[in-house]
Amino acid sequence: MKAEIICVGTELLLGDIINTNATWLANQLKDLGIDLYYISTVGDNRRRMEEVFKTAYQRSDLVIITGGLGPTEDDLTREVVSAVTGRRLRFYQELADQINEKFKKFKRKMTPNNLRQAYLPEGAEVIKNRVGTAPGLYLKVNNTIFVALPGVPREMKINFTEEVLPRLKKELPEKGIILSRLLRICGIGESAMEEKVKDIIQNQSNPTIAPLAGNSEVYLKVTAKAASKKEAEALLKDTVDQLYQRLGMYIYGENDETLELVVGKILKKHGLKLAIAESCTGGLIGHRITNIPGSSDYFERGFVTYSNEAKIEELGVPEDVIVRYGAVSPETAKAMAEGVLENSRADIAVAVTGIAGPGGGTPEKPVGLVYCAIADKSGRVDLYDFHFWGEREWIKYSTSQYTLYHLWK
Ligand code: ATP
Ligand code: MG
Repeated sequence: MKAEIICVGTELLLGDIINTNATWLANQLKDLGIDLYYISTVGDNRRRMEEVFKTAYQRSDLVIITGGLGPTEDDLTREVVSAVTGRRLRFYQELADQINEKFKKFKRKMTPNNLRQAYLPEGAEVIKNRVGTAPGLYLKVNNTIFVALPGVPREMKINFTEEVLPRLKKELPEKGIILSRLLRICGIGESAMEEKVKDIIQNQSNPTIAPLAGNSEVYLKVTAKAASKKEAEALLKDTVDQLYQRLGMYIYGENDETLELVVGKILKKHGLKLAIAESCTGGLIGHRITNIPGSSDYFERGFVTYSNEAKIEELGVPEDVIVRYGAVSPETAKAMAEGVLENSRADIAVAVTGIAGPGGGTPEKPVGLVYCAIADKSGRVDLYDFHFWGEREWIKYSTSQYTLYHLWK
């Protein structure tokens, strides 16, 4: 089944809103195993809508339209589906009744234009809208299925799931199942990562392996098609095992497992408490760690020691170290981490100090240079230096990411 999505709405073309409907629907179609060939966006304009709908009618088996179902003159989806398919608009009394009901229920006065929503092309099935007023339509003509859904994302999703999905499943031949695993990878760049697994990716058609870029991390999405779930899982396991062999030290989690989540799990498992001293990240690492519910089990405290004085007063960093080596130096990072251990109840201490920019860089210490120290009660201190480039917020985020990565490792 060849599908396409058409999103109607001038506001989409003006860049006022992001087309989240298209991405959401694309994901749904993928899960159904339906091939999506086109996504188009068109304004609320009859001629251009006709052009796009007509093309879709000719080349696709399934056309999903969102938007343009409202009651106003510029909501043209019903009319245009009717014009393109040659199915005349017909008045549905039961729809008019339902619309009336809704207005009564919400104690709002119905204006006559709302009755526009009671017209649908001949032969169309009504897609009930339990959460809004505009009903959608499901129309099969000459082997093409037209589905029209409201533009409001929440309504669109509910109507699709409750009304369209069951109908589409009936149209599909007994099909296989598609399963994916998303491997989350940090500590290595996208191209270096691809280099390590190039041969596996190239020799692979089922599962497929798709590299994706994230924020200071990369992903490999492994997707298998098979007749049963069990078979798909087995296919996935084979390939994923190979990928772990090559990239195990970088794959920190899968699917929804963020770095802050996996770091938290490890700390909890070992009964360890963590405390942090942050300079250039201004508390971002603590923020991310405490985004995880239950982090109070392992997060002891955070120091945001931005100024030199704070580093000296709160962490006991020797003034002499800062004067001699600078606030952004491995020596200061180490002294900060040791200071954290002394001034908290933590078993593990992390400290970061760096130059987030845009000012403050020198040839020896450019913007994006960050030192990170991880210390524990045994006296061990691991030091890392990061060299990021880019915007201030990006450098801060990358620092939090790589610090969490080293904690995980
Ligand atoms: P309504 O009955 O609300 O008028 P409608 O079917 O006419 O429904 P639109 O008027 O096209 O829908 O869109 C309603 C609102 O939904 C838009 O103002 C916009 O905020 C949101 N919306 C529409 N299309 C999309 C889209 N593709 N992605 C995300 N949001 C959208
Ligand atoms: Mg509208």
